[in-house]
Amino acid sequence: MTTKKAMLIDLTLCVGCNACQEACKTENKLPEGEEHSLSATAYTALNEYDGTYVRRMCQHCVDPTCASVCPVGAFDKLASGPVLYDESKCIGCRYCMQACPFQVPRYQWSSTYPKVMKCKFCADRQAKGLQPACTEACPSGATKFGNRDDLVREAYDRIKAEPEKYVNKVYGVDEVGGTSILYISSVPFEQLGFKTNLQSTALPMLTWNVLSKIPNIVSVGGVMLYGIWWITNRRKDVQKVEKELLEKRGNGNHSSMN
Ligand code: SF4
Ligand code: SF4
Ligand code: SF4
Repeated sequence: MTTKKAMLIDLTLCVGCNACQEACKTENKLPEGEEHSLSATAYTALNEYDGTYVRRMCQHCVDPTCASVCPVGAFDKLASGPVLYDESKCIGCRYCMQACPFQVPRYQWSSTYPKVMKCKFCADRQAKGLQPACTEACPSGATKFGNRDDLVREAYDRIKAEPEKYVNKVYGVDEVGGTSILYISSVPFEQLGFKTNLQSTALPMLTWNVLSKIPNIVSVGGVMLYGIWWITNRRKDVQKVEKELLEKRGNGNHSSMN
């Protein structure tokens, strides 16, 4: 059986040094410069809430909805944990952006042929027996890489050892069926921009594969894809609408992977 890998992020230990983002940018050959939101050039980013730093990144869901909706199979969930993403397959339809419960995938708005980008859990490094660049760079032990079962146990042990310090919850154990990125905190998660109303079972697999097998949906799907292609080519208009939608949904600051 494949051992599932994971990352434990202890928010009480993060000092906000940004070494994780710098290491990630170097590893992925992304442009230098500190960024405070996820973007096509920042696969991880820090948000600060009154002195508490929260690392945002792809959660590498056990049952990733991004993979389920992608019509061209650009996402691939490995049994060991990472949700890989092949940008060469991406047609820029942005279904994944709509489907991700953590609003992780980001769009290359400035590119002529925009694609969606996100963290790949340093799967190449993991395949060589190395840990992700960001966990290796973390100087305070706030981010730890290891086997998911061990890290879940360790997270609960830390809470049990210092119940006055930690909130009694390991975020990511149950959310949408479980994720590979786990968090513990001294501040209630809802005060740190985490979605705390997510269901504990995997989201319904509203997959393109399933939809495409339903005759009436095939033609509708084709029309939708054309519509999305057309929209994608009107990036500025879409960007404006998307910002408005995010503002309306209140996702601009407190309920997404900023
Ligand atoms: S957090 Fe979003 S992008 Fe990452 S694996 Fe889960 S559904 Fe996919
Ligand atoms: S796992 Fe790798 S790609 Fe993902 S945030 Fe860390 S360094 Fe970046
Ligand atoms: S490297 Fe570690 S301590 Fe520094 S910001 Fe990232 S998670 Fe926090």
